[in-house]
Amino acid sequence: MKAIGLLSGGLDSILAIKVLQEQGLEIEALNFHTLFCSCTPKGSSCSAAASAAKTLGVPLKVIATSDEFLEVVRRPKHGYGRNMNPCLDCRILKFSKAREYMLERGASFIFTGDVLGERPMSQNMEAMKLIERESGLAGLILRPLCAKLMEPTIPEINGWVDREKLLNIQGRSRKPQIAMAKDYGINDYPCPAGGCKLTEPNFANRLRDLMQHMPDFTKNDVQLLMTGRHFRLSGSTKAVMGRDANDNLKIMAYLKEGDIVMAVIDISGPTTLLRGADAEAWVEKAAIMTASFSKADGQDITVRISVTGGGRKEPVEMSVKPVSREMFDEVMLHQ
Ligand code: SF4
Repeated sequence: MKAIGLLSGGLDSILAIKVLQEQGLEIEALNFHTLFCSCTPKGSSCSAAASAAKTLGVPLKVIATSDEFLEVVRRPKHGYGRNMNPCLDCRILKFSKAREYMLERGASFIFTGDVLGERPMSQNMEAMKLIERESGLAGLILRPLCAKLMEPTIPEINGWVDREKLLNIQGRSRKPQIAMAKDYGINDYPCPAGGCKLTEPNFANRLRDLMQHMPDFTKNDVQLLMTGRHFRLSGSTKAVMGRDANDNLKIMAYLKEGDIVMAVIDISGPTTLLRGADAEAWVEKAAIMTASFSKADGQDITVRISVTGGGRKEPVEMSVKPVSREMFDEVMLHQ
């Protein structure tokens, strides 16, 4: 009997696999990578999941969700959690994908490391049932760590797994899981708080601002949201400024046709990108900002400005005087 285990790399998902391995099931692991995963470099998959799969001796498939996930973030049918995290819709999307993968691999059911009541939005009984129904997996999601607190699932009813050997963990205390990890000799697992930017209040503020001013935002806009300092200059235009050399490189990598980009010359300082319908009107202000966040110590300084895209003019240079950075506090979107 084959089952697909959702593996985040966190302790609960590792323990769920351990529990079912002990029952002799053939297990394949599935991990989801989204644009908003904050503990992995962008574009790469989850190293915690990869190392857990290796330790557990199970094959791992990573599914990257992007466009569909952006749609969920824009318009979640079931709303947001405390910040901009649409956990119910996110999980419905992931389970729908998991169902497709289950069928593709000839597996009979899905299981997870969910613990009843551990996360208020997506791990209460009602939410779990809703997720099952809407992902087409009613009765086919087993939660080995809290199964005894729930109605028997098809794998239990059909005897594919022994319900007596499943557990009844609930609540936010991690003590039972930590004790189990000790029994299994698992010492290396990531912190459970891990990695979704949508749950971070400051990131949520930036995202709300983006959604309000640019409802048709793209993956590129979200990537930019995670980079540097952001300044809302008008209803349509924003400046994004690197905090360090790494941010400056990322900003250059995310440039799109029509973006205006600028940097001071001769001394070190930020790269600043201006994006929006009236960006040209904000060039001087952005140049002053760029100079003000550079290493200049009050003297006039030259900023080189260019427009991205074919057929554009040559870069121009503008001499500006730096001012106190606090002057821009009002328009800064804090992160
Ligand atoms: S915290 Fe983020 S990744 Fe996790 S379920 Fe919620 S929205 Fe999805």
